[in-house]
Amino acid sequence: MPNKMLTFVKIGQQTPPKRDVDKRKQDFKEIYKDFIHGKAGEQSSRCSQCGVPFCQIHCPLSNNIPDWLKLTAEGRLKEAYELSQSTNNMPEVCGRICPQDRLCEGNCVIEQSGHGTVTIGSVEKYITDNAWEQGWVNPIKIKNEKNQSVGIIGAGPAGLAAAEQLRKLGYQITVYDRYDRAGGLLIYGIPNFKLEKFIVERRTKLLEKSGIKFIQSFEVGKDSTLDQLRKKHDVLLIATGVYKAREIELPGSALGNIFPAMEFLTASNKKGLGDKVKLFDDGTLNAEGKDIVVIGGGDTAMDCVRTSIRQNAKSVKCLYRRDKENMPGSAREVANAEEEGVEFVWLSSPKEFIGTNKVKELVVNSIKLGEPDDSGRKKPDVQKNSEFNIKADIVIQALGFDPENLPKLFSSDDLRVTKWGTLKTNFDTMETNLPGVFAAGDIIRGASLVVWAIKDGRDAAEAMKNFLENKELRKEWVA
Ligand SMILES: Cc1cc2nc3c(=O)[nH]c(=O)nc-3n(C[C@H](O)[C@H](O)[C@H](O)COP(=O)(O)OP(=O)(O)OC[C@H]3O[C@@H](n4cnc5c(N)ncnc54)[C@H](O)[C@@H]3O)c2cc1C
Ligand code: SF4
Repeated sequence: MPNKMLTFVKIGQQTPPKRDVDKRKQDFKEIYKDFIHGKAGEQSSRCSQCGVPFCQIHCPLSNNIPDWLKLTAEGRLKEAYELSQSTNNMPEVCGRICPQDRLCEGNCVIEQSGHGTVTIGSVEKYITDNAWEQGWVNPIKIKNEKNQSVGIIGAGPAGLAAAEQLRKLGYQITVYDRYDRAGGLLIYGIPNFKLEKFIVERRTKLLEKSGIKFIQSFEVGKDSTLDQLRKKHDVLLIATGVYKAREIELPGSALGNIFPAMEFLTASNKKGLGDKVKLFDDGTLNAEGKDIVVIGGGDTAMDCVRTSIRQNAKSVKCLYRRDKENMPGSAREVANAEEEGVEFVWLSSPKEFIGTNKVKELVVNSIKLGEPDDSGRKKPDVQKNSEFNIKADIVIQALGFDPENLPKLFSSDDLRVTKWGTLKTNFDTMETNLPGVFAAGDIIRGASLVVWAIKDGRDAAEAMKNFLENKELRKEWVA
């Protein structure tokens, strides 16, 4: 039985850190509690088994939370793990990074009655981490491999969940990804201190051992067209995520040291994985000793400010055009960032970047919130003569992501997209307008959450299985 499960990992550490707990706690004020079984049991027994499982209803995967909490409270950890993994392909990942305050935990009746939620995410993480340690998590064993083959484009959570579900049914699976490692945003987007990379690698290795073939550094659109892959496989899944960074065009936007969030985060994650990263090593993408300004108010912005703090930035400011109550990011993430020393400049919007060659300062306008707009959110209005300047050695833009132009990228003009550029799919079957081509995850939802990507991957797998079975039946009829 493990006696502690700590999530605090600094850049460069890929295995659970070995430094003593007290030292780690001194590093930052955020509380990383030792999670011993006693505490998991204690938390689990706080569940009132209320009869109307609002937590389960608000979990996108409809995890059977009350039952695995009960099993944990009774010390029946193997059964708790089996139940938890039956609806979730990566419970230890969701336990770590789901915004539980907006999902399961935010709807716990104990939380609603003012007594503090059962920490469902931490228990979920504990159950699965413990299962790994006990050797209960094993590769899929196929008795009779089917002769039909599935191609999956994208090794993020949507693609991986679909791959696992279909492999369990015996299909031959090949996953293509343009990154050099599998995991999608789990590996190169979400920082190490929120989700340790060995957790992701442990999962992808398990899938490899289950007989799933991974072809990395393979970009559909460059290394093959969509049509070529359609000919190669009986069915295809597109799970390519959304990667086109939104940018603000302002005077001075072309100055150096203004980066999109993903460039900054990917460099940091690669460094953490032990890679040589020229732009990090030469200081360009390293926040150490610098004044950092992050523009944006979502979870990606929080990841950038918290990564900068961990890189020992001189100062870290976050500019957001609305106020704290109207931030899109998780309240818990904002609280963590504040606790770690990030300065939030609420109700502010950049007007101009100033510098020679490289950015040196931002001219910023103050904002007043006006009447609600069409979306129901208060409109941010720039206040006249409200300008002030902020010093910056690096500016990071974290303003969200849009889909790339997939029909063009895939040389597949007939692939239909929505007005937002996400793939258009049949609501019931998740099939695109191209027969046998399905889609899942951010590429159909727009930037969303890991737990939704897993849900989509599982749903798509179910629909693809039906498609493959029908295809086989049709063959038999013709024969
Ligand atoms: C910085 C950041 C932090 C986040 N933090 C959280 C969080 O804390 N909690 C949470 O729930 N969600 C978080 N999210 C959102 C979450 O990561 C995504 O919703 C989720 O990863 C989407 O999964 P996906 O499988 O659809 O796509 P992705 O994870 O983006 O995976 C898509 C994969 O497709 C590959 N690909 C793309 N195009 C091609 C191509 N042409 N050929 C081959 N391969 C291709 C990519 O390389 C990638 O590996 C965060 C997102 C970001 C950007
Ligand atoms: S998957 Fe996410 S929402 Fe569902 S129980 Fe786990 S932490 Fe909560």
